[in-house]
Amino acid sequence: MLIDFHTHAFPDKIAQRAVSKLSYDSGGLEPQTQGTITSLKQEMDRDGVDMAVVLSIATNPTQQKNVNHFAMEVNRDDRLFAFGSVHPDAPDALEELERIHAAGLKGIKLHPEYQGFYADDEKMKPIYRKISELGLITLFHAGDDYGFLPPYHGMPEHLLGALRWLDTPVVAAHWGGLGQPQKVLETLCGRDIWFDLSFGYSTLPKEYAQRIVDRHTPDRLLFASDMPWHRPEWELRLLNTLDISDSDRQKIYCRNAQSLLGL
Ligand SMILES: [Zn+2]
Repeated sequence: MLIDFHTHAFPDKIAQRAVSKLSYDSGGLEPQTQGTITSLKQEMDRDGVDMAVVLSIATNPTQQKNVNHFAMEVNRDDRLFAFGSVHPDAPDALEELERIHAAGLKGIKLHPEYQGFYADDEKMKPIYRKISELGLITLFHAGDDYGFLPPYHGMPEHLLGALRWLDTPVVAAHWGGLGQPQKVLETLCGRDIWFDLSFGYSTLPKEYAQRIVDRHTPDRLLFASDMPWHRPEWELRLLNTLDISDSDRQKIYCRNAQSLLGL
C-alpha cells in the first residue's frame, strides 16, 4: 500500500490554465499530469499509488468558498482525501473552517507565500485555535518556493512558532522545508511535527535526506510526491537509496498516513 500525502489537481475547466501558469511562475517545471483529477488518478495507477491527499490553496479571500466546494467534491472519491483551505485575511475564515470540518474534510493546507503571512504571526492565532478545536490536520507549504523571492514566510523557525498554537497534527511539506535541510535538522527534527517527503528527488542531497530520516522519528514521515510537479516514482527512487528498515518503510509509505487520516 502506498499513500501519497501531497498532490494537486484542479477543476476540469481551469486545469490546463492553472497548470500552465504555475509551471511558468516556477521557472518552467514540467507538469507530470494534465492537472485534472482524472489525469492525477491515471498517474497514481502508473506509479502504484493507492490513495492520495489532494491539496488546494485559496490564494485570495474571495476564492475560498469555490476552492472548498471543489475539495468537497473531490473528497467523495474513495481513493482521494481532499484538504480544504482558508485565506487568513478572509473575514469568514473561522466559519469556513467549520464548514470544512462539517463536510468531513480531514485537514487544511496553508501556504505562507501565496497567502502572505508568517506562519508564526500572532494574527494566525484565532485560525490555529479554531483548527485545533475542530481537530483538523494543518499542512503547511514549508521552506523556499520557486515562485517567490525570499524572505520566505514558512521557514522551519516560523513553523516551530506556529506549533505553540496548534494542538492537532501539523505537517511541514517538502521534508520540513524546501531547500532548508540544515535548518530542518536544527529546528524541527525531533519535534512533534510530521514531514511530507514530497519534491525531494533532485532537490534534496541524499546525505541530508538520510540525516533527516535518522534524526526525526519514522512515525512522523509521510511519503509524498507533489504531483503534478514531481512523480511518486521519482520520490521512491530517492527513498530507495536511503538506509531505512522495512518496518519504518511501511510506516512512511502508508501506516503513518493511515493513522493520521483515521483509516
Ligand atoms: Zn505542492
